[in-house]
Amino acid sequence: MRLSLTYLGILFVVLSSGQSLPWPMDIPPLLSGTFGELRSGHFHAGVDIKTQGKEGQAVRSIWQGHVSRIKVSPYGYGHALYIDHPNGKTTVYAHLQRFEEDIQAYVRSLQYKKRSFAIDVHVPKGKLPIDSAAIIGRSGNSGSSGGPHLHFELRDSKSQHTLNP
Ligand SMILES: [Zn+2]
Repeated sequence: MRLSLTYLGILFVVLSSGQSLPWPMDIPPLLSGTFGELRSGHFHAGVDIKTQGKEGQAVRSIWQGHVSRIKVSPYGYGHALYIDHPNGKTTVYAHLQRFEEDIQAYVRSLQYKKRSFAIDVHVPKGKLPIDSAAIIGRSGNSGSSGGPHLHFELRDSKSQHTLNP
């Protein structure tokens, strides 16, 4: 009962925002953190999506586009993927456990070349095209994350300002 009420609440928030976005995961929509929430002195620039307390859940690109940036760090967003879309928006998927194989292979080659686990690279358009709803990785708990979840952001590609999804 409590679960279904929460579910309806989330659905209402998504629908009442006037813009309905595809959901980036296959599991039911539950948020553990919301946009604009004050987080130790800074505003949380995205939404935290619960992943049933575990890692390895499929994460999908909500729209067609191309990987524009890949960041791997032991801190912050951990394994993070930035995808640019033809509508001028960028979606960000963070704290991933791993990327899908073609992206992972690209990352490995860069890590080898730079001799570093941590990388932050801008990926040329056409290198890693992404279909709508394609699985781009698996959810995780990488970087500065206090438990398994997917951190999702919607940004304006030009300004990189975060939009409220
Ligand atoms: Zn977050």
